Amino acid sequence: MGKIKVYKKEILFHLFLNLLIAVFVSISSYIHIPFGPLKSVLVYGVHFFILQFSVFGFVYILSLFKNIFSVVFPLVFTVLASLAFWVYTQDITIEASIIQAILETKIDIAVDVFSFQFFLFVLLALCCSLFFIKKFRKLKKNSIKSPLFIAAVLAIISFFIVENYRFGVLKRKLPYNAFVAIKKYVEKSKIKLKVIEENISSSKENLHIIFVLGESVRADHLSLNGYARKTNPLLSQQQNIISFKNIETPLTYTAISVPQILTNKSVLDSVGTAFYSLFSILDSASFSSEWIGNQSLEKSYEAIVNSNQKVTIVDKFHSVLSFKKEKDLKILDLFKQDENMAKNKISTLHMIGSHWYYNSRYSKDFEIFTPTTNSKYIGSLSSEQLINSYDNTLLYLDFFLNNLIEELKKSSKETILIYLSDHGEILGENGQWFHAQQNKASENPAMLVWYSTNFKENNPEKIKNLISNKNKKYTTDFLFHSLLEISEIKNFKYNKELSIF
Ligand SMILES: [Zn+2]
Repeated sequence: MGKIKVYKKEILFHLFLNLLIAVFVSISSYIHIPFGPLKSVLVYGVHFFILQFSVFGFVYILSLFKNIFSVVFPLVFTVLASLAFWVYTQDITIEASIIQAILETKIDIAVDVFSFQFFLFVLLALCCSLFFIKKFRKLKKNSIKSPLFIAAVLAIISFFIVENYRFGVLKRKLPYNAFVAIKKYVEKSKIKLKVIEENISSSKENLHIIFVLGESVRADHLSLNGYARKTNPLLSQQQNIISFKNIETPLTYTAISVPQILTNKSVLDSVGTAFYSLFSILDSASFSSEWIGNQSLEKSYEAIVNSNQKVTIVDKFHSVLSFKKEKDLKILDLFKQDENMAKNKISTLHMIGSHWYYNSRYSKDFEIFTPTTNSKYIGSLSSEQLINSYDNTLLYLDFFLNNLIEELKKSSKETILIYLSDHGEILGENGQWFHAQQNKASENPAMLVWYSTNFKENNPEKIKNLISNKNKKYTTDFLFHSLLEISEIKNFKYNKELSIF
């Protein structure tokens, strides 16, 4: 007790300093979460307490270096507070794309930079931090004999224990995600891509491939595949649509499944070797290519996407973690067909699809299955609520694809649409939820094909094969080889055995 008394000033200082950090920085990461019932509020309360306790640990250790702390703290704190302002007001996601925008001074495109409130908030943060530094300078030099030192060491250890227990649980929140984002920004692209040296050509002349890359959609929740609920009220009315319900992948999260789908990498290959980008091959066969995505790009597949001639990312400053993320229909606003283009073309539409938090993925008109989730903490939710919310995202997908098909019908080009989800989703099987875990449900993504009337007329043999293959088992390897086959690619070896055509 005597010791505590001696260090009273220091303890009070760090208590108030952490309150300051909480108000200006940390709380912003919690403010948009739907809390729902009391149990969920308590869980997030504990979560926040652990986060702030770990922040205290790092800040305290830094404060042992008095001069460095006096300079570094106000600077870092003010920068973090300005990021937090956009999280508070717009729920933007702090990741590499926002760091890139700031460093390349394109930040004004993303956020309302010059608002009066923003400057007031940042100025207030700066003044408060300088006031605290003034108090800090008057403190007796911190020492490792202080009980706070032991607490700080415990706090830092707790950070690593919690992160080890569940990856990203703290790192995805401010202030940590700011440092993670900078690290990601400077990181190099992970996949090695082979350069095309062959003289590739295509014997097609008027082909338009639309590849829709879905997210977290499991095959068995589509009524097209026999699901009892009507999750495909619109698509089931369409002609020329075939569902492949036996597609498999052992790669159950976006960062590893997408690079495999978009290259000649097999699901069994390791990442170390170099692969061909699907788009580079089509590009050298004189296809035009465009990517319209509603997900910010991860390092593992950024280079593949950038091998498209045109890349548009919708709402790139909101990630799956944001509750204000743009919905997928925005992609269709940007998707324009060019009838006059006398060339083959591939358009890839990358959806945010059915990624958790499900309610953020659809608008009110699609809230058909109720009750839905009212909290982000799954421990406070019933499986009925979770499945209802998930199935509502599928109604939205049904509407999305149906709109797209109606648009494609207007074209005179030979048009083929392939929809493939990057992986499935677990909805309570074996007590598991979501994806990135091995489970039958996460390894069976949904896949659909739709073709235009003139595609059917020009490729009767391929349509016949498509229909007879629809119940066969394929891995997601099929995509690369199937697209090269319908493109009638010459001078590049692909595996016809893996093609659905
Ligand atoms: Zn995914």
